[in-house]
Amino acid sequence: MNAQELLFGTASFPAGSEYRQFQHRFGLVLILVSILVTAAFILAELHGLAVLHQAYLRSGIVYCALNILAYWKLRKNPDHLEVIAAICITASLLLEAVAFMTNTEDEMRVIWFALSIPAAYLLIGTGFGVALTAASMLFIIVGNSSLAAPYSPSAIVTIIVAILYISAAFFAFSAKSVSFHHALVQANNKLAELASTDPLTTLFNARAFSSMCEHILQKSLRDGAPCAMVFVDLDHFKAINDTYGHEAGDTVLHAVAQCLKAASRGSDVIGRIGGEEFSLMLADTDRAGALRLAEKIREEIEALMPCVCGINLRVTASIGVAGLRPEHKSVNDIQNKADQAMYLAKRNGRNMVVCIEDHLHPGQS
Ligand code: GH3
Ligand code: MG
Ligand code: MG
Repeated sequence: MNAQELLFGTASFPAGSEYRQFQHRFGLVLILVSILVTAAFILAELHGLAVLHQAYLRSGIVYCALNILAYWKLRKNPDHLEVIAAICITASLLLEAVAFMTNTEDEMRVIWFALSIPAAYLLIGTGFGVALTAASMLFIIVGNSSLAAPYSPSAIVTIIVAILYISAAFFAFSAKSVSFHHALVQANNKLAELASTDPLTTLFNARAFSSMCEHILQKSLRDGAPCAMVFVDLDHFKAINDTYGHEAGDTVLHAVAQCLKAASRGSDVIGRIGGEEFSLMLADTDRAGALRLAEKIREEIEALMPCVCGINLRVTASIGVAGLRPEHKSVNDIQNKADQAMYLAKRNGRNMVVCIEDHLHPGQS
């Protein structure tokens, strides 16, 4: 365990939760600092370096114990950040109030009220920040009137203005930083989507498809579950482009992609891996199941008859199928088998489904 894990624990934060991770770490550091500062005051009193009231000392010990518990809980589970932060900040406010009323030797003690406000805004949000600001000002104004040696009205005005200033600054900062962060996460998600999607068909592009397949394959190898690859290549597609133009070809590709989506299950991963080449990775599907789906796809593509330039074109596809075999260790292995099967379908006359194992081991299912 390295120093960071020791300090912040081992909780993991998914991509896009960087602000949450910052809040978790910031909260843990603030709790530790609060414990250290309060303990330092208590030790200073015990060694005669400061004059602190007994009520403050006792409250300080309870406060330290509560914060140690809070640190331990938050370090283990970031999900409770808001609740734990609210408890700790409320406890700080109460300790500040005790110090304000009892540690009368310390003329600067009123400053402590201002220090919890940034934490309230950054860890919990603007609502809690505003509430803490109001409660702090109320404590100061009401508490001051019952002090034996109250602060002067101008000192109270100064601290209230300072608290309002800090509060307003952090209100604006936290409201904006949260909305900036959300905008950034959304922009990142959009970029990730664009980087993994083929714009013409909205299917996964080759790179994204390959990495999705890797997950399915590794899970299948781990669980001993079947999976299969279906490779679809449109027949004589170049002729469509040459006869009707590139745009007509694009219309056909789009129509075929929609057909593949409609024919497959939600758990299947579909990618456009080349110009007129599509692949489907079927999780929890054996070779027989993949062959059935491939045949359905072949029939549906043939029946598609997309309309280009006012003509309903007959489009067909050659389809290769490969089921996961013990010797397949990577996506490339199973993809190569599906490729070989598809080329066999081309050689044997196109518009057909071929599983290469049918040719190697006839009769095996
Ligand atoms: P086969 O039956 O042997 O597969 O023949 P084919 O004509 O389908 O295959 P070939 O590889 O000769 O041609 C593929 C064509 O796909 C060539 C290329 O111009 C076209 N193509 C590749 N990407 C796109 C695209 O995004 N849009 C369009 N309209 N055509 C594309
Ligand atoms: Mg091709
Ligand atoms: Mg082709």
